[in-house]
Amino acid sequence: MSQDCIFCKIISGEIPSKKIFENDHVLAFEDSNPVAPVHALIVPKKHYTDILEISSSEEGRADLCHLMAALTQISEELGVDERGFRLINNCGEEGGQTVLHVHFHLIGGKKLGAGLI
Ligand code: 5GP
Ligand code: ZN
Repeated sequence: MSQDCIFCKIISGEIPSKKIFENDHVLAFEDSNPVAPVHALIVPKKHYTDILEISSSEEGRADLCHLMAALTQISEELGVDERGFRLINNCGEEGGQTVLHVHFHLIGGKKLGAGLI
């Protein structure tokens, strides 16, 4: 838990969220400012700043596997498992990361554009 991290506060329940999926390692909840009909955030319960930090330890890599392992259930819960979706990670300032607790955006519910930017 990082003291002033919004997502750690969501994980602890201090800040409310619309939960989609939860297990011992992973939480998925609705983004408060959705950019598409489906916009979920998938986070590890342990605090890591970004994708580089979570990738740099054995424990972090195990948590990354837990995030990916939860994808099937999360996409089913959101009703996009057959339709498809986009999974995005923003890293650092130029990557557009605004919340410094690593997370994946799961975006879908409509036909998304082909471009990356
Ligand atoms: P980033 O820009 O770091 O990749 O994404 C951060 C995301 O967190 C944004 O899409 C933003 O809408 C979302 N967000 C920020 N604060 C909150 C919050 O308090 N609750 C929820 N559910 N989403 C948040
Ligand atoms: Zn955090």
